[in-house]
Amino acid sequence: MIQFNKPYLTGKEAHYMYQAVYNGHISGNGQFTKKCQHFLEEKFGFRKCLLTTSCTDALEMAAILIDIKEGDEVIMPSFTFVSTANAFVLRGAKIVFADSQKEYPNMDCDTLEHLITDRTKAIVPVHYAGVACDMNQIMKLAQKYNLFVIEDAAQAIDSYYNGTPLGKLGHMAAFSFHETKNIQAGEGGMLAINDPKFIKRAEIIWEKGTNRAEFFRGEVNKYGWVDIGSSFLPSDVIAAFLYAQLENMDNIQQQRRHIWTQYYNNLTHLQAAGHIKLPEIPEYATNNAHMFFLICNTPEERTNLIKYLKNNQINAVFHYLPLHLSDFYANKHDGRTLNNASIFSEQLLRLPLYYELTDSQIIDICNLIHKFYEEN
Ligand SMILES: *Cc1c(COP(=O)(O)O)cnc(C)c1O
Repeated sequence: MIQFNKPYLTGKEAHYMYQAVYNGHISGNGQFTKKCQHFLEEKFGFRKCLLTTSCTDALEMAAILIDIKEGDEVIMPSFTFVSTANAFVLRGAKIVFADSQKEYPNMDCDTLEHLITDRTKAIVPVHYAGVACDMNQIMKLAQKYNLFVIEDAAQAIDSYYNGTPLGKLGHMAAFSFHETKNIQAGEGGMLAINDPKFIKRAEIIWEKGTNRAEFFRGEVNKYGWVDIGSSFLPSDVIAAFLYAQLENMDNIQQQRRHIWTQYYNNLTHLQAAGHIKLPEIPEYATNNAHMFFLICNTPEERTNLIKYLKNNQINAVFHYLPLHLSDFYANKHDGRTLNNASIFSEQLLRLPLYYELTDSQIIDICNLIHKFYEEN
């Protein structure tokens, strides 16, 4: 069976974890945490990085930092993971879901201005599959209406918008190091902060609402409870694992892009014949090869293709159910139909993509897809 995902190990993870254990600082904000944060700040130019136990946690920190309160409205795509919305719902926000573009699952920025009211507090763009949303358009709206922009960059590490790293354009950004992401630590995440006015409070929220980080830097001579917060920081053992991955980032990204390109080249005939649609990367965006997906012409065709591949030992999977139609949110949604989100939900198919997938496995998978369309 070719599985959908297989977490890649560089070989250094256990070694660094051993070091973290014997450093004697095993809790959060230790040596490896600092190394990871420094690495990410240097490589991408984020003002401040804080490792978190997940991207979900980073999003929750962001919602606290921009003071989301009961009745505030937050605009985001419906076609995303639950955590994007949950983080803001936890603080009492009403979510206003935007539709996807017709050509790509990212939210359709042309629809956003109509969704802004005087209660709107933030826009949360999700860079689906690591491909940038149109950030110029989003930042212009944010400026015009005085809104915060929190990028859900869970899938977007080392990807760019007109040459700027994703996660660097909004006020802050949340990244994931879950084992399904390009760079992984099993469970892990990061809040990247670009607007310096949030940095001090972010450290406090990160450390359970205390000024412990300042205390350890010797900036204050005792620490205590100064704000709300939670335990958002991961153990240094997790950071040690992550550091091994970060050191290998260029190699990992190169291999993933190689796989992505193989898929694309091998399936382009099927697109020309009108059987499927392949992802279109906009001119302003790069592709970090987080995911390879195709769009089937009908929901039935996708179901049958998944079944066909499964019968041939290949695990291909669909993706999100639109959040505006979810059990939890359907009765809170304002009733607008979001057709493109529904189409991606029903017709998008993700193919296996992980570091160790071989060229011959990719060719086998593509041949099977060709065969499926010859037979149907
Ligand atoms: C993976 C993912 C998350 C959640 O990441 P965790 O680290 O598992 O909390 C949030 N948003 C998007 C778009 C994701 O892909």
